[in-house]
Amino acid sequence: MAKSLSPLELYNLLPKINCGKCGEANCLSFATKLVNLEVEVEKCTPLVEEGRYRENYFKIKEVLKPPVKEVLITRGGRVVRIGGEYVLYRHEFTYRRPTAIAVDVSDNMSPDSLIDRVKQVESLSYPYIGKELKLDLIAVRSVAGDPENFRRTVRIVLDNSNLPIVLCSLNPDVLRAGLAEMPGDSPLIYAATVDNWNRMAELALAYDCPLVVSAPNNPVALKSLVKTMLECGLEDLVLDPGCMGGEGIYDTIVNFTMLRKAVFRANDSLLGFPLLGAPMSVWLEKGRALDRKWEECYLASMLIVRYADILIMHSLDGWVLLPLLILRDNIYTDPRKPVSVKPGLYKIGAPNENSPVMFTTNFALTYYTVSSDIQAAKVDAFLIVVDTEGLSVTSAVAGRKLTADKVAEAIKESGIKNLVKHRFLIIPGRASKLSGEIEEATGWKVLVGPLDSSEISKFLSENWYGKKLWEVGS
Ligand code: SF4
Repeated sequence: MAKSLSPLELYNLLPKINCGKCGEANCLSFATKLVNLEVEVEKCTPLVEEGRYRENYFKIKEVLKPPVKEVLITRGGRVVRIGGEYVLYRHEFTYRRPTAIAVDVSDNMSPDSLIDRVKQVESLSYPYIGKELKLDLIAVRSVAGDPENFRRTVRIVLDNSNLPIVLCSLNPDVLRAGLAEMPGDSPLIYAATVDNWNRMAELALAYDCPLVVSAPNNPVALKSLVKTMLECGLEDLVLDPGCMGGEGIYDTIVNFTMLRKAVFRANDSLLGFPLLGAPMSVWLEKGRALDRKWEECYLASMLIVRYADILIMHSLDGWVLLPLLILRDNIYTDPRKPVSVKPGLYKIGAPNENSPVMFTTNFALTYYTVSSDIQAAKVDAFLIVVDTEGLSVTSAVAGRKLTADKVAEAIKESGIKNLVKHRFLIIPGRASKLSGEIEEATGWKVLVGPLDSSEISKFLSENWYGKKLWEVGS
């Protein structure tokens, strides 16, 4: 629950007229969803539109404001949201905005290699439990320090990708040249330092862009810069406490941790902004490229766990980026809600009346593992997904969320009886103790499948196709 609020506190600020315009039955139910951040307050149109509720609308906005400000990086219709967090630890509520991952390009690259790299960033995609894991942004770095050169590079990137952008240079003139190519967009600009803060503040205000404030390994200077920027009228800030590899990893992790703890444990609102890490800094060290990639990968993974809201990477290898995407996905799932798929009948391939019928549970990881193992076996099959409230087979059997009666009900609702002429049901090996009860409850002959779905191919060739069970009937 956001900031330990009670629904009643919010209910008292709502119109309390139970008009239903928000889609909820009454104001209390809307307040409960508000507290859990399941709806936007703007769904209560009377609150937003009627002058007499205006004061309460702003009070609710204030009450629901996250301790870590949410910052938007936009390009066309695409938005990357960073920050917006309500808790220090995920189990206290949930983390909301997954760490955005940018990969760098630079203005000293040839046009061909620039386009090639941009396309690699854009196309990197990995299917994972029903989702496509992808990179979020491109960071355009100025190496040459020449505004015209930077402008040309930004133009090429924009022409070859739709991803939102981070513009990186410590020279405001260089950044201005890049910004001129992006009217109407809000790229993240990197970075204001103790040396250039006044011109960077002017630039961020003029182009209405979020701005990174950077003070490597110096949290005191960082806080002082933030104060100055807020006094200049900037609101959308991102903090860069420095990202050091090698011997500096300890300081890096401590800085990130202390900054975020200062927000949640000491209510330090000056530090309540998203944190940026640039693990690509390890490439400044000498040594083998392979070592740099390893270091970049483990530094980035530590920062995903330790509160980084946005990362800038250099490596484009799958073995560096895919573990990060999966780690991020796992940390940013809502611990209150098991990741599940819709129960029901799924057809894999083009099953017919002789095809095997199996079942599994609706825990997303279980479903996608089983279905991809069936696909890998090149088998046409029916897969019935039983509603176990998002639990895996082992947990569901132990917790009585998977029972013979539930399987019988799922079989009935699926209509499978009319789709196959046999009556054999292959059950997961981990549900073997239910085999007798399932036979009794369903009237189907049970075949206990393998403990691990990777054995499905072997199991079916020996026990289904080898024995031509469909010809036996039931
Ligand atoms: S729209 Fe607002 S006033 Fe109407 S029921 Fe929903 S919360 Fe209550």
